[in-house]
Amino acid sequence: MNSSRAYHDDPITALATPWGESAVAVIRTSGAGSVELIAACFSRSSALRKAASHAMVHGMLIDPDDGREIDEVLCAVFLDGRGYTGEESVEIHAHGSLPGIQLILELLRKAGFRDAQPGEFTQRAFLNGRMDLTQAEAVAEIVSSKSRAAHTMALHRLGGGIRERINAAKEELKILLGAVEIQLDYPEDEVPATELIDPVRISALGEDLHRLTESFTVGRLYNEGARIALSGRTNAGKSSLFNLFVREDRSIVSEVHGTTRDFVHEKVTIQGIPVTLYDTAGLREAASGDAVEEEGIRRSGLVTGEADLVLYLVDGSQGIAREELNGLDREQTLLVWSKADISAAAPPEGFLAVSSSSGEGFPELEKAIRDRLLGRAPGDDAAVIDSVRQRDLLIRAQQALGEVETGLAADMPLDALAVDLRDALDSLGEITGEVTTTEVLNDMFSRFCVGK
Ligand code: GDP
Repeated sequence: MNSSRAYHDDPITALATPWGESAVAVIRTSGAGSVELIAACFSRSSALRKAASHAMVHGMLIDPDDGREIDEVLCAVFLDGRGYTGEESVEIHAHGSLPGIQLILELLRKAGFRDAQPGEFTQRAFLNGRMDLTQAEAVAEIVSSKSRAAHTMALHRLGGGIRERINAAKEELKILLGAVEIQLDYPEDEVPATELIDPVRISALGEDLHRLTESFTVGRLYNEGARIALSGRTNAGKSSLFNLFVREDRSIVSEVHGTTRDFVHEKVTIQGIPVTLYDTAGLREAASGDAVEEEGIRRSGLVTGEADLVLYLVDGSQGIAREELNGLDREQTLLVWSKADISAAAPPEGFLAVSSSSGEGFPELEKAIRDRLLGRAPGDDAAVIDSVRQRDLLIRAQQALGEVETGLAADMPLDALAVDLRDALDSLGEITGEVTTTEVLNDMFSRFCVGK
């Protein structure tokens, strides 16, 4: 299957928990002979050697050179073919002291383990067929997820959510390609290309892959978060709204104009999306002559320029000043009618009425922010990708399917269509890390029993 890839099962080790003081530290080992290597420096070596897979053995790590006790530990044993990597492996649960961890790693190196490369345990799990590439990537994404939603999505990928979607598309392409290959072998029975390859199905497949590609926006958003800037004139209520988001007094709320001299920012979560919220200095058109405030205004301009979304506040009790809304980038802006509790008039078209004092309109504002950030992206339950590699391969597969469609319309010869079909299939196979040309062929011929 993956035999073409170089694979070594030499014993490796690494600290699996963060470097630092903790109650427990876990040191992972994996590779042929792991149990025996550790048994050689363990107080209860025969118990370790006899341990069943997934058993925990309590004992003392001992330096065999001088009999010195290194640490009292629990060893979790995973026998060959079991556990995370699919190799023989021992996880050492030790006390989480930095000098202690260093001593254990030194002991393990002396025993015959080498330091693992980044991701090597997961790489071995993939090479041993314990998971496909999308799942291997999900492992990294779970560990680094920045929000609960991102974590849930990565967990879905680990469960094989993406693999299933990709495999369904792959199966369909394999059947098509099989039919085309057979036709190419028997050119005497001429069948029109559109009879073998349904253009409607090709287009539907392309759309399905497109939806998956679009989910990348969602994946990124939930992981990397969005930047949102609060903007509007001085006293429009920006700091009060900022505080409502942050629910703590980080920003200065004051009735004196121009007190928010620089922008402050804070990390908040809006409907599950991690957001960095910026409160900008008041955009007073009249220069105050105050150099510090002017610098604040200049910098806030930079922040609003780079924000994913700008909440532009107009003081509802004052109304819109002349030409105030000119020059706003409407694509980037959500209009807020602030101080709705003391507002003189109903909010004009396109504004969301919000009161930071009473909280009125705040849930609606949060929902509007979420909708704007997610745009046309698919809903939460859909499989979501969060890998540039997967996105690029999905785009390549779609382009190849587009070529098939164009080729069909232009009456291109079957062998040219076969090249594009294979291209699409290979891109999908690369996503999951399974397909090789030989596999494609074997699969095809097992399906279409030629038999003559
Ligand atoms: P900024 O200059 O845009 O940051 O505005 P602030 O948040 O400092 O608010 C200016 C003034 O308006 C302060 O006196 C706030 O108490 C008041 N204010 C802000 N939001 C509201 C609101 O929703 N309702 C009422 N009644 N007053 C508000």
